[in-house]
Amino acid sequence: MKKLALHWKIIIGMVLGIIWALVSSSLGWSSFTIDWIDPFGTIFINLLKLIAVPLVLFSIISGVANIGDPKSLGRMGGKTLGVYLLTTVFAIGLGLTLVNIIKPGKLIDEQSRIDNRISYEIWASEQGYQVKDGINYLQDPNFFERAQEISKLTKSELKDAAVSDKLQTAETRKKVSPLQPLVDIVPDNFFYSLSNNGLMLQIIFFAVFFGVCLLFIPDQKSQPVLTLVDGINEVFLKMVDLVMQAAPFFVFALLAGVVSKMAGDDVGKVIEIFKGLSWYSLTVLGGLLMMIFVVYPLILKTFVKKIPYSGFFKSMSPAQTLAFSTSSSAATLPVTMECVEHNLGVDKKISSFVLPIGATVNMDGTSLYQAIAVVFLAQMHMIDLTVGQQLIVVLTATLASIGSAAVPSAGLVMLIIVLDSVGLNPAWIAIIFPVDRILDMFRTVVNVTGDATVCSIIADGENMLNYQEPDDPTKTFDLD
Ligand code: ASP
Repeated sequence: MKKLALHWKIIIGMVLGIIWALVSSSLGWSSFTIDWIDPFGTIFINLLKLIAVPLVLFSIISGVANIGDPKSLGRMGGKTLGVYLLTTVFAIGLGLTLVNIIKPGKLIDEQSRIDNRISYEIWASEQGYQVKDGINYLQDPNFFERAQEISKLTKSELKDAAVSDKLQTAETRKKVSPLQPLVDIVPDNFFYSLSNNGLMLQIIFFAVFFGVCLLFIPDQKSQPVLTLVDGINEVFLKMVDLVMQAAPFFVFALLAGVVSKMAGDDVGKVIEIFKGLSWYSLTVLGGLLMMIFVVYPLILKTFVKKIPYSGFFKSMSPAQTLAFSTSSSAATLPVTMECVEHNLGVDKKISSFVLPIGATVNMDGTSLYQAIAVVFLAQMHMIDLTVGQQLIVVLTATLASIGSAAVPSAGLVMLIIVLDSVGLNPAWIAIIFPVDRILDMFRTVVNVTGDATVCSIIADGENMLNYQEPDDPTKTFDLD
């Protein structure tokens, strides 16, 4: 019998995980699943992240140093960042277009939107913001009573929201210099950056710096260092192959855990959660699916003629399924690298430089979702964002997606900054929180697919793309 390809096994693991969670929830066993099955999902993510951090370090050093010429490095670096930026801005544009056409926030009933608007105005005046386009009902003689009632309600709701600690982070973030993000990229203690997963940009900075300096020292001295770095890189890649053999089982545990946590002992809850936010979720999903199935293939068709539609998806399927199940592009990075190198045929010199940077700074799915979320939240509070405000959303969503760590829910936390930039209440992230994990799974697939697309473009431009139709894309992870 023909061996079942690994990505099919992963998909089966995912489906079984969801079925298990639904059955166990309806039998009242969700705490069993959370206590005894979910931890294996955490072990899986830990293993992948364990590999990702040193892999980023060593692969960038080797990528940079193997390019051999600082000039082509500069050209490639500039091109990489430029194309990443373009795809991000395009994704935001698409998100804004969809949310302005579909208007999911206006599909909520009128009365609750009015109440939402009142509570917003109270919040805004507490912040000292001027609400210019006040609406008629503010002349309502009972306004203040009603308002207080609503404001109390809102505050206690906010307290309950599990996001209050994250809000505090946003508060502290607000007070720092505008150049702080730049300062944050340069580590003062590299070992601290290594021991803290969120500091990937610092690790990238150090790796590029180290790689560039390797280029400037005599071959005799740099060669042994480079051989060591390349060797260590290989060891980490072998670790990926090994962990991937167990991926179907781990993915089962991951999905069983995620769904059980959502459902508790009541399967109906999952449906309830989605009902209220269905238009919002569908708008985000529509945008994300367009990116995956229309935008990236079109970009590839235009700039890299060599890779056919089906071949691209076949090549990337292991990384895409893993991105979906882990919701983390950092955890998926080792697999993305193998898919891009072995299946798409991108030269290691390019992928080892372009992909780790992409996993950290290029998040098209995240930025598209942030754009939709901000406008949706404004719409459901009866606030129409002006064109100027939407341009600010483009700018801050770009920065926020660059600043988002490649881990689950990072995009939601960074949404605080985007809301804040147009004078909206950051606590509103609590409203979309219930559906966020599912959307996170899809946006992580977009993030990973976007990185692979850009990587192929850069590789083709440098004549370092050698695509051949893969027969079985998961052969890449065989142990021999
Ligand atoms: N989970 C996403 C990623 O890792 C980031 C986010 O949008 O939350 O790519």
